[in-house]
Amino acid sequence: MPDPIKLALISPRGPLYRHRTGIWKKSLRYAPLTLTTLASLIPADVPVDLTLIDEGVTTIPDGIDADLVGLSAITGTAPRAYELADRFRARGVPVVLGGVHPTLLPDEAARHADAVVVGYAEDTFPQLLRDFGAGALRARYDQAPDLDLGGRPFPRRDLLPGGRHALLHTIEATRGCVHRCEFCVVPSAWGRPLQRPVVEVVDDLRQMAARRVVFLDLNPIADVAYAKELFEALVPLRLTWGGLATTLIGRDPELLELAARSGCRGLLIGFESLAPDVLRGTSKAFNAQQDYRALVGALHAHGIAVMGCFVFGFDGDTAETFEATADFVHDADIDLPRYAILTPFPGTPLYARLEREGRIRTRDWSLYDGQHAVFEPARMSAAELERRTEATWKRTYRLRGIAKRLAGARVQLPVAIAANLGYRYYARNLHRFYTCDWPGFRAAA
Ligand code: SF4
Repeated sequence: MPDPIKLALISPRGPLYRHRTGIWKKSLRYAPLTLTTLASLIPADVPVDLTLIDEGVTTIPDGIDADLVGLSAITGTAPRAYELADRFRARGVPVVLGGVHPTLLPDEAARHADAVVVGYAEDTFPQLLRDFGAGALRARYDQAPDLDLGGRPFPRRDLLPGGRHALLHTIEATRGCVHRCEFCVVPSAWGRPLQRPVVEVVDDLRQMAARRVVFLDLNPIADVAYAKELFEALVPLRLTWGGLATTLIGRDPELLELAARSGCRGLLIGFESLAPDVLRGTSKAFNAQQDYRALVGALHAHGIAVMGCFVFGFDGDTAETFEATADFVHDADIDLPRYAILTPFPGTPLYARLEREGRIRTRDWSLYDGQHAVFEPARMSAAELERRTEATWKRTYRLRGIAKRLAGARVQLPVAIAANLGYRYYARNLHRFYTCDWPGFRAAA
């Protein structure tokens, strides 16, 4: 048997999510699945001595001893991933880069890596490790389009350090999305939607033996028949779960009822905008046909709290948009409102359009975090967009506003109160983040 490969898999930090100096409270963090999924893909015939490091919750040990380093990056963490990669390679340690950003910009990633994994890693990562063990690492590994999620090993959640995430039990049943919203990286990076067999999702949940779980699926209700089968299968497990859904869940009372019966107690929903023209313009026209207020009411009636996400900076947005949105979330009793600045992630149709129009302000990917204006808005300045977004966060998370919304919603109150106080902290500290005087920000930027 050859000596084990000393492999370090690292999820680099971003300014928002980071150990000690991050703006995002631990109480709001859930365990990522990327590292634990990669760990599960290590083939039995390749001996590996593995270290997993989520830099959002821990520090990379000085002089870490590794034969190979794998870094997974989203756009906002790409500069940090490249910085780490350059440092490891200067020490003679080969580096592999993967994740959504290297998938969208593999040539850029290749300048900082010995190998780039493009797309999902289910089939390529085991091959990469075998090649490395044989001294034949290739420069690029592309996942073949016929990927099947059935029969895969379950994520190695046991390898994550305990006590660092509020929610350790994360899972996915599906990947990808059927829609093609102009700003979203999902269709560009990941292609067609994929599903795990429901029986395997249930087995994974049984093995986790957790009472509270988070589904990280981006759109688990895209295939309604699959979603109903999944929710039916969850009922006997008597779980409490949270996850994501589109507004289309409101169109199918049976699906909503089943979601509630299966233990759903919270859903993150991308409302994005209140303006039908804006929604149509960004290819999320299905939202324009939904009655948001009725949907929030229906979710509350089923005991489901709503994390409502709104985006500012669309071409149709004006100064009035911010106030109207804050008024709406207040009146509709949205449990946990969240605001993002429109971000043209590279590889998306939005990025291509804004680049054609000469409106991209910076390619400093560390600012592509949903809270910086990295493009020229159509009807206000970038500074105004940031200022008004911050003011809207602050207004929404005034104590009186929180009390009014939660008293109206009356759903999952202990969790909702804790989460609102966490978001209030975030809202009240955003100005430090914008002006980059957050401790440690400069070091990472
Ligand atoms: S519905 Fe959501 S996940 Fe699907 S493409 Fe649109 S923004 Fe992305």
